[in-house]
Parts: sequence; structure tokens; C-alpha cells
Amino acid sequence: TIDPTSDAAIAASVAPRPIEEIGARLGVPAEALFRYGHDKAKIALPFARTAEAKADGRLVLVTAINPTPAGEGKTTTTIGLGDALAHAGKRVAIALREPSLGPVFGSKGGATGGGHAQIIPMQDINLHFTGDFHAISAAHNLLAAAIDNHVYWGNELGIDTRRINWRRVVDLNDRALRSVVVGLGGPGNGFPREDGFDITVASEVMAIFCLARSLDDLEERLGRMVVAQTRTRQPVTAAQLKVTGAMTALLRDAFQPNLVQTLEGTPALVHGGPFANIAHGCNSVMATRTALGLADYVVTEAGFGADLGAEKFLDIKCRQAGLAPSVVVIVATVRALKMHGGVAQKDLGPENVAAVTLGAANLVRHIENIGQFGVPAVVAINRFTSDTSAEVAAIEAACAGVGARVHLCTHWADGSAGALSLAQDVVQLADAPSAFRPLYASNLPLVEKIDTVAKKIYRAGSVAIEPGALKKLGEFEALGFGDLPVCMAKTQYSFSADPSRRGAPEGFVLPVRDVRLSAGAGFVVVLCGEVMTMPGLPSRPAAENIFVDETGFIGGVF
Ligand code: ADP
Ligand code: MG
Repeated sequence: TIDPTSDAAIAASVAPRPIEEIGARLGVPAEALFRYGHDKAKIALPFARTAEAKADGRLVLVTAINPTPAGEGKTTTTIGLGDALAHAGKRVAIALREPSLGPVFGSKGGATGGGHAQIIPMQDINLHFTGDFHAISAAHNLLAAAIDNHVYWGNELGIDTRRINWRRVVDLNDRALRSVVVGLGGPGNGFPREDGFDITVASEVMAIFCLARSLDDLEERLGRMVVAQTRTRQPVTAAQLKVTGAMTALLRDAFQPNLVQTLEGTPALVHGGPFANIAHGCNSVMATRTALGLADYVVTEAGFGADLGAEKFLDIKCRQAGLAPSVVVIVATVRALKMHGGVAQKDLGPENVAAVTLGAANLVRHIENIGQFGVPAVVAINRFTSDTSAEVAAIEAACAGVGARVHLCTHWADGSAGALSLAQDVVQLADAPSAFRPLYASNLPLVEKIDTVAKKIYRAGSVAIEPGALKKLGEFEALGFGDLPVCMAKTQYSFSADPSRRGAPEGFVLPVRDVRLSAGAGFVVVLCGEVMTMPGLPSRPAAENIFVDETGFIGGVF
């Protein structure tokens, strides 16, 4: 049986418009659309490239407080705000990440919004969509095969098989694949070595796919990736394996941004989806820039909270892609702020104004942080039906205390009508010329970049870099990578590296355990704790509830 209040049922109650009609709203002619059925299409690369070369719309970033198990609703708010801007008569496009099958079949679910703020067809987008992630997996695994094949046929490059750091990928949560041995079975099968799988969204190919500006740029970046070391500890790049042309060929079609629609018919470009810890966590530059060339307002989302997602969006993506956001929307919920104020998840039911007020310190810190980038911030309270007016008033009071603008939004329940005041404010703020500046200069030494993010954004008292990591940072600089931005891999649950420290901790020591070079993506990954690149499934995975009936309706995706 189908729950009529479920996201899938709400989505099914709306008949999608033909995708040509959605394209026409942005001036995309039917000839420039490659249709995947009636309601999904790719925007042909030549047309997308002409649009992205212009990219003169206003860019609005949706980010959030530090996530809690209570839920925040960034994607839902991105969609609700996009619909509200369209409702107000603006030419608007939404730009979002593509969901990964890992969380869809695991516990988190998909990434197509919720309630009356969704993109459709939600089942398709959450499952295979247009096959982009499969293409990325194939390109990634081709390179893995080429490495073992190179060793098999004589290892001309002198690759040290103990120091191959290019793993294999699959877009599923499958903990059994984290550590495997490949090459077993005798001389015909190559040389046995320890290997492992990551989830596709953790692949550097995914990060590159999302930062590349053209197919040429894509291929060059793929070639720069460091995949192994030689026995004399020299880096071996993907270009040396000579398959980056074939990898780019596999990615050619995927590289074209996907076009879908919201429940209200607002165009949405949904393209790419890198991890938000070891990568930068936002949709492709191709999609964002194409949207900016086609629409006057583009609403997009960054992963996790503003300490990670927005900082990387601004310091990595915007810097690399030449983007200057006009407004940042910070999503907060009563429930999550209660948890930041010390309430346990099981006690979220009863009204608790004091906890909201205490937890609002987390929100206030994020508001102040966005100010450091020279971009105006506005707060969106994503209302849950259980929120009381006194609790909402507590958030409003905290915002007033720091002079921040705040809007109570009910787009989850009401669609565009629930986010009109937010939309109006966003339009007003976006009218001022953007004074965006990254947090740090590119030529600052890597250690100082880490220090700047840790102290200015996280409010750490000090940074403790492991000696091995410090040595590697020096090596990266010696190899000419000192100008890259840093990509912080820290827990999303806290400003600190300790997930249990909610609220607004300060003065703590930020540990840096290791660093990794993502030379193709163009950043240095800074690991501040354990990072899981191949998640596992929970004891009751969402996959157990997914079904398809004779009409073809897919239920159980959320
Ligand atoms: P994020 O992008 O921050 O991870 P999502 O927008 O994907 O969050 O929302 C996470 C989940 O919370 C979704 O299942 C969504 O339907 C639900 N949700 C979001 N906003 C609300 C709300 N106001 N009331 C109830 N559920 C909500
Ligand atoms: Mg999201």
C-alpha cells in the first residue's frame, strides 16, 4: 500500500510537463535537448557551452547549520525557494546534485527534496537517472584496469604495486568491498595485491567531472591525477597510463547537464554529485554555469553545513569556476537547533524554547562566518508541523540579536506559497553587486590555509598537524601544488572534529591526521578524522521497502 502523505505519492499526484516545455522556459530549443523519456533530458553540449560562456545570472547558495539526525532540509528549501522565485515571475533555474544509490538504498534516502518541494520524476532521478554515475564508474574502473594491465605487461613505468592509490568504485554501499585482494588465481591473472572499492561519489573522477569547464579541461584534469608511486617514490599520473582519452569518451554524454522540473514546473539542472568530505560536495560547474547563462536567478545547494559545504563552495568551486554568489541562504530548523541545545533525538517532541535559544548559537556562528566572504546571508526557518510559535520566535530573536534577516518558510507543506517572503528578500539582496571574496589567497602556504579555515570558520584554538601530514604538505608544495585550495574532510556534525560537540564549541584543537593530493580536481584534501569512502548498509536498509507495481509505479523511495 502507498502512503498518500509520502514524498513518492505527492510526486505521483502531479503530471510532469513535457520536458520541451521546461526547456522553453529557459530558452532551450527542442533541438538542443536529448530526451530520456518525456520528462528528462540532457542539454546538448554545444548549446550548454554557449550558455555557460555567458553565465551572468545571480547565484544564490543554500546552506545550513551543522546537520543533526533531526534533519534540516537544504534540498527541500533550494527547491521551495526556486519555485517561489518562479511564482514571483522571475526567470529561475535550480541546480542540484544527482543522488547516489548508496544513501537511496541505505538509510538517508534520495536527494530530490520532500513534501510539496520536490523535483520529478523523483524515482528516476534517485535511481539510474540518465546513467551519469555509471559512466563515471566505468571511466574510473577503466583506469584501474589500465594500471593492473600495465604492471602485467612488464611495468615499464616501474609502478610500486604496494603504492597504487587508485582503488575501484561502485555506486552502492557495500562494506564487504572495502578491502579486497585482486589478481588471485595464478600468473594469468596478474600480480596479487591489496585493493579496495570506494563508492562512485568518492571518486576523484566525480570531483573532476563537477569542476571541469569543458571536455578538454576534463581530459587534462584526469591526466593530472596521481594514481601510484614508482619504486623510487616518484608520482605516476593517469596521463602516463594513456587512457584519459578513452575515459573522456566514456564521459562525453554524461558531461551534458540534465534537465528536469519541480512539482510546480520550475526548471532544475541536476548534474554530478561528489562527496562533501574528501571532495567539495556540489553539483557540476557545467550545470551551475549553464543555469546562470539561461536564468536570471540560480538557486543551488552545497552539502553538509556551512562550515564545510559553503566554505568549499566558496573557496573551491567559486574560485575555480569564476563564480560570485549574490546571497547565501542558511537553513535552520527548530528540531535541529534543539539538538544543538543539548536535547536528545527521542526528546524532540515537547516544546523547549530554552534549548532552541541555546542551540541557536550554532546558527549565529554560521551567519557570522558567511559575512567573512563578503556575501549577505539570510536565514530560512524550514518549518516542521511540530514546531511551536514560541520556538520559532526564539530563532527569530537570535537572528535579530545579530541583525540577521530571517523568514519562516513552509514550502515543504505549501510549495512556492510557503517561501514567498524569503524569495522577495533574496531578490532584494541579490540586486546589490556581489562583494564576494574567498576566505584566503591562493598563494598562502598550505599550512596557513588550513590554519585560516580552522580558526576563522571552525574557531579552533590551534591546529595539530601530524608530522607525516606536515611532511606531505611540504612535498605537495615542492611539486608545485602549493597554490591549490584545501578541501577539509571533517565531521559534518560539529564545528570541531568531535561529532558529539554540538552547538558552537570554540578554542579546541583541530587534529589533522593526513593529507591527500587531488591534483586533477585541484585541491589538497585535509583529513581531520576517519573518513568513510565506502559506506555500509544499515540493519534495515531502505532497499527492503522499494517495490515496483504492474503500472510501473516505484514506491518506497524517499
Ligand atoms: P538536506 O538537503 O539538508 O540533506 P533534504 O531537503 O533532503 O535535506 O531533507 C531531508 C528529509 O527531510 C527529506 O526526506 C525531506 O522530505 C524531509 N523534510 C525536509 N523539510 C521538511 C519539513 N519542513 N517537514 C517535514 N519533513 C521535511
Ligand atoms: Mg541535500
